[in-house]
Amino acid sequence: MKKQILTTPNGESYPILTGTGLLDTCGAEIQSVVKPCRVMLVSDTNVAPLYLERARKSLADAGFSVNTHVVSAGEESKSVTVFGALLESFAEAKMTRTDLAIALGGGVIGDLTGFAAGCYLRGIRFIQMPTTLLSAVDASVGGKTAVNLTHGKNLAGLFHQPSAVYCDVDTLSTLTPHEMADGAAEAIKTGILGDPELFKIYENGNPLADLEEIISRAVSYKSRIVTEDPEEHGVRKLLNLGHTPAHAIERLSDFKISHGHAVAIGMAMMTRAAVKRGILDKNEGMRILNTITRNNLPVYCPFGAAEMAKIASIDKKAAASEITVILPERIGQCRMEKLPISSIEALFADGLEGQE
Ligand code: NAD
Ligand code: MG
Repeated sequence: MKKQILTTPNGESYPILTGTGLLDTCGAEIQSVVKPCRVMLVSDTNVAPLYLERARKSLADAGFSVNTHVVSAGEESKSVTVFGALLESFAEAKMTRTDLAIALGGGVIGDLTGFAAGCYLRGIRFIQMPTTLLSAVDASVGGKTAVNLTHGKNLAGLFHQPSAVYCDVDTLSTLTPHEMADGAAEAIKTGILGDPELFKIYENGNPLADLEEIISRAVSYKSRIVTEDPEEHGVRKLLNLGHTPAHAIERLSDFKISHGHAVAIGMAMMTRAAVKRGILDKNEGMRILNTITRNNLPVYCPFGAAEMAKIASIDKKAAASEITVILPERIGQCRMEKLPISSIEALFADGLEGQE
C-alpha cells in the first residue's frame, strides 16, 4: 500500500491510497477522513456489476448509510442530462451539506460525480475510487471536474478537490489491453515530464507487474504540480504535453481514436518536432518513440498539419492569439513555449516529418 498526501492551496490536504484490497476496506479507510454519514455511491453499468457491492458492503459495515446511482458506461454519461439526474438523485436521498458522494469508476464517473458534488448545495465532499489506469494516474487527482456540452468536451465544470482518493489496483485487472494502453500513455507522459524512473518502467520493465509503483509515481508528480498551480495558470500547463495535437486528432477521428492513444501520437509529434528544432537529443527522441510503441500505443498520425492546426486554433486552450505548447528537452524535463497561433501548423508539420 502506498500513501501520499496532496496539499491543496488553501492548506487542506487529502490522502491518496494505492494498493490491493481497498474495495473491501474502503469503509474503514473513509471513516478516518469523513465521519459516518449518508453516501451516494456513483458508478457505471460496466463497473457496478463487478465492484459496487463490495464497496457498498464495506461502507455499510463502517456505519455509512449508502445509496447508489448507476449511469450508462461511456463518455455520453458526461452530459448535462445525466449530471441533472445525479443532482436530483442527491436531493431524492435527502443528502445534506455534511454528506458524501463517492465516484467508483473511470474518469467519466470521477468527472461527473465531482462536478455534481461541487454544485449540489454549493458543494459537498466527494471521494474518488478510480478503477481505470487513466483515472488512477491522472483524472482522479487534481480536482478538475466537468461534463461535456454539445459544443465540446469538458466545457461545463469546476475545480473541486476530492477529500480522498482510493485506488484498488486489483480492479484494473478487468480492463481491456486498449484501456490499459490509454492509461499507459498518460503515465509515460508523466515520465517524460518529470520522472525518468517512471519512464524506464515503460521503457524496459514490466508495467503490469509494477502498477502500484507506476500509479504512486504518477500521482506524486501530478500532486506536486497541482499544489503549485491548482488552476492551471502556469506549470500545470506542462500536463498538456501532447494534448494540443491529441485534441485535434480525437476530433478529426470523430472520437474513434481514444484520448490516451491520441496523446501517444501527440507526444510522438512533439518529440519529433523537438528533435528537428534542436531542443531534444536525437537518441532521447528515439527512446521516447520506441517506448510509446513498445506499450502498444501509436506514433503515426493519420491527419495532416493544416487540418489539425485549424482545430487547435479554436481549441479552448488557445488563449487569444497565442498557444502554449510543451516540448521535451530530455526524458524527465519539458519546456513550455508560447507560440503565435499562426505558427502551430509549422510545428505540427515538423511533428509529422519522418513518421513511417
Ligand atoms: P471511462 O470512465 O469511460 O472508462 C473507460 C471504460 O472502462 C468504460 O467503459 C468503463 O465502464 C470501463 N471500466 C472502468 N473501470 C473498469 C474496470 N475496472 N474493469 C472493467 N471496465 C472498467 O474512461 P477513462 O478512460 O477512465 O477516463 C476518460 C475520461 O476522463 C474522459 O471523459 C476525460 O475527459 C476524463 N479525464 C479527466 C481528467 C481530470 O483531470 N479530471 C484527466 C484525464 C481524463
Ligand atoms: Mg489527458
